[in-house]
Parts: sequence; structure tokens; C-alpha cells
Amino acid sequence: MSKIEPLVIIGSGPSGYTAAVYAARAQLSPILLEGSVTAGGALMNTTEVENFPGFKDGIMGPVLMEEMRAQAERFGTRFITDDAVKVDLTGEIKTIEDGSGNKYQAKAVILATGSGYKKIGLAKEETLSGRGVSYCATCDGFFFKEQAIAVVGGGDSAVEEATFLTRFASKVYLIHRRDELRASRIMQKRAQDDPKIEFVWNTEVIDILGEDKVTGVTLKDTKTGETKNLSLTGIFVAIGHIPRSELLIGQIDLDDAGYVLAKPGSTKTNIEGVFACGDLVDHVYRQAITAAGTGCQAALDAERFLASQGIFSA
Ligand code: NAP
Repeated sequence: MSKIEPLVIIGSGPSGYTAAVYAARAQLSPILLEGSVTAGGALMNTTEVENFPGFKDGIMGPVLMEEMRAQAERFGTRFITDDAVKVDLTGEIKTIEDGSGNKYQAKAVILATGSGYKKIGLAKEETLSGRGVSYCATCDGFFFKEQAIAVVGGGDSAVEEATFLTRFASKVYLIHRRDELRASRIMQKRAQDDPKIEFVWNTEVIDILGEDKVTGVTLKDTKTGETKNLSLTGIFVAIGHIPRSELLIGQIDLDDAGYVLAKPGSTKTNIEGVFACGDLVDHVYRQAITAAGTGCQAALDAERFLASQGIFSA
């Protein structure tokens, strides 16, 4: 068991890294559990980020994350490249256990574990995952050179992925359950102008075909109920996210969808000394910049809490 730290941050997207920058500059020398394989969060699977203020020509998602990490490190953040696998947040001293069995004790904890990919819920989605079913265009797009593939969803993620995938695929079907996209106008226009993208409106994927690899999908028209098969070799699911709050069930107040409930106007949870930020809390805005903003708030809330306990530095 380690000594009692002022602050442990769990999660390494824009919210976790920003919390670390602020906490480290406040001399709290935070420990940040950045994950065993997924350090950097969802932006590590993104291409160009055009709307993060300060980068007029855009910046690649992974580069932005590396810069944030380096900034947090520069001020004294201590990184643990492992997952938090167990937490006890209830008492005055919080305990966090990592995947190697190391335990950390802290007076305050910032939760910044973000969100994971939402799944359609089809049986073949699991068995053919990595064999044609994917949730990450930047990771897997390369494998679909000159092939016909589909993206499912109607939000920014789906439209961005479809546009990106036209670099490789011969044809990209964008399958959406309604006849109107949720994605921002600029992204919609880019996709609509792309000759390789074909929109398939009012349509749900009700089955994925293939035994060892994807060979097609069965589609259902949501208006008429008609079904038909479509041949393709890849299906990219981009239908939103679910909060990564499994560790917290039974300890922290969550809403019905599993998002951590923070007190309005702050990052405080229902447990004293535990703060939450980023996509773990936010199902409305979900932008890199809003995650970074709430990461900053969480660090300031934690700093004030620790000061109220007489702790001003590590
Ligand atoms: P989203 O905005 O929640 O969109 C999810 C899409 O998937 C919706 O079109 C939804 O349909 C559809 N969907 C949900 N469940 C489904 C199901 N079971 N079967 C079929 N379709 C389903 O999620 P997102 O696109 O991942 O975006 C999340 C947030 O990140 C947004 O705030 C977005 O602006 C942001 N983002 C921004 C950028 C960028 O600015 N570069 C890039 C990616 C994401 P309905 O429309 O019918 O509900």
C-alpha cells in the first residue's frame, strides 16, 4: 500500500489530462492512472480535430493528446500505465487498485474514465468483431481497400468515419435509422458531396451475415418493414457511446444511463472528495474542449476540497 496521496486521477482523455495539468501546477503532484492500452482516450482514434481552439489548421487527435500528457508531466504528474480495476471511494481515505494489484490511497479522486462504444446488440456483432465489424475507422479502415463497406449511425462520428473511410473503400453506405442526420452541417455537407458515400435512410441493420468474416448485412426499412440483404465486407458501428462507469456501480450515484451524477454547477459527486468530469458525466456536449473544461473544474474543486482539509501540496 502506498502513502496517502492528495489526489489520484483515473482516466486519460482531455478531461483527465487537463485535471492533471491544473492539479500538478497546484503542487498536488497527482497520480494519474492512464489505462493499460487505451491511454489518451477516444481522441487517440480520431483523425484531424478542427474545432479545438488554438489550432487554426487543426491538429491530429493523438498529437493533441500527447501534447496534453506532456504538459501534465512537465508540472509533475506521475503516470501509471495501468487500469483502475477496483475502487473503494466511500471512506475519508479512498483506495484504488490497478491491474497489477498495486493499491493507491488518496484523500481526493477525480473520475475521468470517459465512455466506450455503444453496440447495436446483434449476436454476430460480437463474434465477427475484428473480422469485418469495427468501431474505429482510423484503426481498421486500412484493411478495406477497394471494398464496399457500411457505417451505421447518423451523428458526427458516423459521418466523420464515413468520410474518412472513402480514402480506402470503393463504396461507403451510410446506414441511418431516420431520414435526417444528427451530425453538424459542415460534416453533413462534406459527406453529401462525396461521390463514394451512399446514404441509406430509414434503415436498421437487423443481422450481420458471414461465418468467419463479414459478407453482408440484412437491412430493415423502418417505414415499410421490408427487409433486404446488402453485400459488403465491413461494417463500422458509430451509434454513440456508453459511460465507462462499471467500476462505480454501487458506490457513486449514477443516472439511468450510467452517467455519474455531478452536483449542478460543479464536478462534486455524492461522495465527499470524489469528483467527476468529461464524457463520464456529460451526455449532452461531449466535445474535447468541454471535457477539458470540466477536467479543469474538477481539479479546482479537488484543490479547494483538499485545502479545506489543510492539504496544499503533496
Ligand atoms: P450521437 O451524436 O449520439 O449520434 C448517434 C447516432 O447513432 C444517432 O444518429 C442515432 O440515431 C444513432 N443510433 C443510436 N443508437 C442506435 C441504434 N441502436 N441503432 C441505430 N442507430 C442508432 O453520437 P456520436 O456521433 O458518437 O457523437 C457523440 C458526440 O461527439 C456528439 O456531441 C458529437 O457532436 C461529438 N463528435 C464530434 C466530432 C467532431 O466535432 N469532429 C466528431 C465525432 C463526435 P438518431 O439520430 O435517430 O438518434
